[in-house]
Amino acid sequence: MFIPPNHPRRASLLVREKLVEGFRKGYVVPEGLIAHGRGECFDYLIGEETRDFARKAIKAAAAAMLLARHPVISVNGNTAALVAEDVVRLAKVVPAKIEVNLFYRTREREELIANVLREAGADEVLGVGEDASATIPELFSERRRVSPRGILVADVVLVPLEDGDRTEALRRMGKTVIAIDLNPLSRTARYASITIVDNIVRAMPALVEEVELLKKKPRSELEEILRAYDNNRVLAEAVEYIGRRLSEIAGELLRA
Ligand code: ATP
Ligand code: MG
Repeated sequence: MFIPPNHPRRASLLVREKLVEGFRKGYVVPEGLIAHGRGECFDYLIGEETRDFARKAIKAAAAAMLLARHPVISVNGNTAALVAEDVVRLAKVVPAKIEVNLFYRTREREELIANVLREAGADEVLGVGEDASATIPELFSERRRVSPRGILVADVVLVPLEDGDRTEALRRMGKTVIAIDLNPLSRTARYASITIVDNIVRAMPALVEEVELLKKKPRSELEEILRAYDNNRVLAEAVEYIGRRLSEIAGELLRA
């Protein structure tokens, strides 16, 4: 599809095209396209930029990943379609493991996503086929399957675009859960330990940069960043920001 270079919604349209391509290739599910649409709506509300509340969460997320004994990045179809290269970069700089973790799990989708990640440079991809042999307690069906070398034993899990139930189940297992979710009101956003309210296409590269920066700092400084971090406050800031921004826009409309 041709999108004119000066089209005002070009960036957003290009992102959509990547998802549609993933859908055509069979690793993005139709539900993933709908989920993205919900995300786009919230992106519109925050003005399609990485805001201060997201920067705070990105910093805390970087510190948590660097302090972790066993950090894992969970990857689904949308994440593979949008930010496979950044996932691989992040896994290398932390370093962290990469695991395919699907809500709608089929062997074919697992393999396709693992291939996308390998083409992006991943050396090892967990959670494919027999490797997803462990289960998360309290969850049903294929959604509960994880790798015994990955998410099962992880202390910190980055779950870009995860659903609320699984986020809650991972928290109950005592894990630190980092979510990337444009909707500050979602259950995922509320259950996560650290919620980055930003578009995954901006948040992932920013997270890689932050890890590169914080990697040079002493552990004590990273621990202090985590101690000072308050996720409910960050979520409240996101909701307040949207409210304020909408009021301002309403004011401009009334004056126009
Ligand atoms: P929950 O179960 O947590 O309440 P939900 O049911 O509202 O969440 P789902 O439809 O399961 O949400 O998943 C979509 C979520 O992913 C939405 O909250 C949406 O904001 C978010 N999302 C979709 N695309 C992106 C993206 N590119 N970047 C960040 N977040 C996104
Ligand atoms: Mg949900």
